[in-house]
Amino acid sequence: MKEKIRRLMIGRYGVDDLSRFMVLVAVGLWVLNIFTDSKFFYSWGVLILILAYVRMFSKNIQKRYQENQKYLEIKSKVLARFRKEKSNMEQRKTHHIYKCPTCKQKIRIPRGKGRICITCPKCKTEFTKTS
Ligand SMILES: [Zn+2]
Repeated sequence: MKEKIRRLMIGRYGVDDLSRFMVLVAVGLWVLNIFTDSKFFYSWGVLILILAYVRMFSKNIQKRYQENQKYLEIKSKVLARFRKEKSNMEQRKTHHIYKCPTCKQKIRIPRGKGRICITCPKCKTEFTKTS
């Protein structure tokens, strides 16, 4: 059986990050289907799973490789965005983030200092805020 699968996969693309992700999405949609009993989620799950398998058995390796690279690129952008949001959230506990009224430069001020005069490091505009 293993040998059969191995021979079947010769010259074919196989599993990559994108197809693993697609399988996860399909499973996620089926879970949603359980809770909502919606044919919509179920059908999309089936469709995405079929596409994932089509990609795995594809012989157009170059094209599948490019799709995977595109996916990895988008994934890293999304993850970077999440990391930035997370660090912003953590900073908000200890700092206020103000925008300069003139040039919109973001300025980070520690909390709990009362009313303070802030000088924008970029355009030198002065404004007062409560930290
Ligand atoms: Zn400014």
